[in-house]
Amino acid sequence: LEPLYSFMLRVRVPGGVVNAEQWLRMDELTIRYGNDTLKLTTRQSFQIHGVLKRDLQRTIQGFNDVLLDSIAGCGDVNRNVMCAANPHESDVHKQVHAVAATLSQHFTPRTTAYWDLWLNGQQAYSSALSTEKHEEQTDHEPIYGPTYLPRKFKIALAVPPQNDTDIFSNDIGLIAISENGKLVGFNVAIGGGLGMTFGMPETYPRLADLIGFVPVEDTVDLCEKIVTIQRDWGNRENRKFSRLKYTIDRVGLDTFLSELRQRFGRDLAPAQPYKFDTSGDTFGWSVGDGLGKAHVTLFIEGGRVHDQPGFELKTALREIAEFHTGEFRLTGNQNLVLANIETTHRARIQEILETRGVWAKTEKQTALRLHSIACTALNTCSLAFAEAERYLPHLLDRLDTVIRANDLENDGILIRMTGCPNGCGRPYLGEIGLIGRAPGRYNLYLGADHQGERLNKLYKEMLDEEGILQTLTPLLEAYAKQREAGERFGDFVIRQGHVQATTHGLNFHA
Ligand code: SF4
Repeated sequence: LEPLYSFMLRVRVPGGVVNAEQWLRMDELTIRYGNDTLKLTTRQSFQIHGVLKRDLQRTIQGFNDVLLDSIAGCGDVNRNVMCAANPHESDVHKQVHAVAATLSQHFTPRTTAYWDLWLNGQQAYSSALSTEKHEEQTDHEPIYGPTYLPRKFKIALAVPPQNDTDIFSNDIGLIAISENGKLVGFNVAIGGGLGMTFGMPETYPRLADLIGFVPVEDTVDLCEKIVTIQRDWGNRENRKFSRLKYTIDRVGLDTFLSELRQRFGRDLAPAQPYKFDTSGDTFGWSVGDGLGKAHVTLFIEGGRVHDQPGFELKTALREIAEFHTGEFRLTGNQNLVLANIETTHRARIQEILETRGVWAKTEKQTALRLHSIACTALNTCSLAFAEAERYLPHLLDRLDTVIRANDLENDGILIRMTGCPNGCGRPYLGEIGLIGRAPGRYNLYLGADHQGERLNKLYKEMLDEEGILQTLTPLLEAYAKQREAGERFGDFVIRQGHVQATTHGLNFHA
């Protein structure tokens, strides 16, 4: 007898967009083979937890049938390509999303191993977004070569003014630039990455450097050249230093850009003006681009879609998927947009959300909770030192008391908790970042900005719950009384001198 192994399956969802049929299939697979919950991740993908080894193939076959796959869900290749979930600027969003789908397709590994192992050699579509059949399956990897990349690689696209994909935390971040409702190209940022290791100050989170502007038609080519430099120059001796961020800091940005110029064949144009207002989501109903369709963004605490007494989220979304003709859009902040809702469906959706107890979860929360992110951590992530998803809601109950007492209910402060410093919940971009050190103990980081353009900095170490509350309460009280008009919490703690601004990953520990 072998042990009863169970697994987590990560399903690739380029840009985070699935249709109702795909949603229903994911729901069904979690019931049949998983633990009847669905995790929406910070990379806009699904995780199914608790799949027994003997059911892995059936599960993969199940989502393959609706054109989803788990290729490059992990490994030293390009991961799920993220794309702004904001449906408001529909035309530009559509164009940006098409670029995200093309990038996802372009960087999909060509190996047949996935199909051989899980689908008995049957080739299927390679992504939910692509209508092309994946005909290039071969063991030759034109981009990755025989040894693939030194480490994972991440790409994200954002449409200002929302930075809901935290593009600066990616190896390549693309900021959409549009003119008169038409996408013309992207500002390009390279070298972001958030993981670090406790006790190793030579490891650090780093935000990407803005290097210029690329027209839409050259975007894939430019990204490929960046990937190939990392393939050739990245550290293959020590995985702790193998991400692109360390390559750039080792050789210097100028040297990297000089090589990029050679491979790309020309200089990049200067970056164009843009402005991000927030890296959070905007909740509730909105009407889109004049086409008469509506959207509703739901708060999904910890990204966990499940049923509880009085809060039947999973059931509600299943019922909606039975008739919803638009999309389900997973946001980079673990939330969910029901997008492009037919006018005639709006009242019915609202009724289901209210009857199943889902609406109150979005409507009645403090903005602090609505801006929270928690990684999976214990009990399903083997790297976790501490709780995150299962614990943050309780901590927020107590913090909400402080928030309400100080009239801060409507102030969206980014709070992010992870069970270890690997950074899956992007805690280094939280205005309040809590990173697990040991069971019940967290390092507290402060001073990130609200737009995802400045890292935070260590403020206190090894705090337990009382320590966190005793530390944050006076800071929140002071923020309520002494902030300047429009000042965000992350900016306030820096102005007050509680932490210094982190200006580069290299001075994150300073
Ligand atoms: Fe990622 Fe660490 Fe959280 Fe696990 S505990 S999900 S590795 S951040």
